[in-house]
Amino acid sequence: MKRRDLIKCLTILPIAEFSLLKYQGNLSFDEFGSLLSTTLFKSTDSDLHSNAFVMDGHIHMMSRQLLQGLDIGVRYADGHVDLPRAKDGGLDAMFFSCYTPEPYYPDRHEVKNTFRVVELALSQLEKNNHLIELAYNASDIVRINRKGKMAAFLDLEGGFDLDGDLNILRALYRSGLRSVQLTAHNETNAFIDSCYGEKRWGGLNAHGRKVVAEMNKLGMLINVAHASDDAILQTVEVSSQPVIYSHGGFRGIVNSPRCITDDCAKALASKGGVIGIQFGSSFNNPKYAQWVASKPKPEAISKAFFKERKTLTIEEVDQMVSKDLPFVHKEVIPDEYWMGTDQLAKVIDYGVQLVGEDHIALGSDFDGGPPLPREIKDVSDYPQMTKAMQNLGYSESRIRKILGLNWLRVIKDVTEKKN
Ligand SMILES: [Zn+2]
Repeated sequence: MKRRDLIKCLTILPIAEFSLLKYQGNLSFDEFGSLLSTTLFKSTDSDLHSNAFVMDGHIHMMSRQLLQGLDIGVRYADGHVDLPRAKDGGLDAMFFSCYTPEPYYPDRHEVKNTFRVVELALSQLEKNNHLIELAYNASDIVRINRKGKMAAFLDLEGGFDLDGDLNILRALYRSGLRSVQLTAHNETNAFIDSCYGEKRWGGLNAHGRKVVAEMNKLGMLINVAHASDDAILQTVEVSSQPVIYSHGGFRGIVNSPRCITDDCAKALASKGGVIGIQFGSSFNNPKYAQWVASKPKPEAISKAFFKERKTLTIEEVDQMVSKDLPFVHKEVIPDEYWMGTDQLAKVIDYGVQLVGEDHIALGSDFDGGPPLPREIKDVSDYPQMTKAMQNLGYSESRIRKILGLNWLRVIKDVTEKKN
């Protein structure tokens, strides 16, 4: 049964059942929907996905939209995501990743790019208001879902400002941004070390602590995906709020600095944080990762590139970045190295065994370039993740947490319980 049908059913509820539901106190929409379906409609495996609250922790929504002039409300044949396909996939909410890639950093275009992607996100949300609305907190997400719409929670990937200017951070908060990755994507900035970058600060420096304190004060989610191990541990230690790792895998499965170590995962979870499992083989399929490591490396953005290149205008950087759009994996993966959702589900289970079912969620990285599992061509195939978790024998309650309730809980913890 579709969620919007559940809403309609509220109007025809027999008094006895309605009293029972009211008696449960302040239920979230999803808890309410779940109770309703189990008391009245006996939910079955096949409708679990459409009844559950589904939220993804990391979807690139503004990169190709900015540089190719696309509209999120239009269905496209390429790429991984647009709103019609997100609706087909049963999504109720998503972290809208506003991304500033590395080529914008050497000429210090990162602040300009950040504001223009956030502004584009806001204008696209206004234009597609019949399908989606901006959420500032968990209550907004529930309220928007009650109307049968999807909710967008803005997250920044890449430096909001390489120096970490707190005024810029506050201005972004006023614009509606509620989640920020501390590192400058894969690069170390003036206040925190990244997973791949130079270990300049041994984690988080004194200014980084001020950024964390300011985000705690504002009620913004602190995202440590792409941070170094020390930076993750120190951020978790100094933050007064739970910290998230929006998308990635586990170092215990794939030995990459972009995958979280068991120690970091445990520390993050012990303070109420949530880890989003990314959908790509690079971080989740050791066989694929080893195969890629054995191949000649494509030309990476090297330090020399940053130091030696001439100054570029932002338009010239746009042209450079546009060549890679859409950010999807373009090579064919030989069958022996191609992962299925069953293998991805085992990564989820590794996380559940490690830190418990309350701290694991999904962060696909759609349109961010992950080599997706066989069964998933784009966001419309999201129900395959529910199916894969059902095949693990997971309970309905555990699947609902991983599909979205854990994100909703941590957003509530951070945005609605300020210092
Ligand atoms: Zn990322």
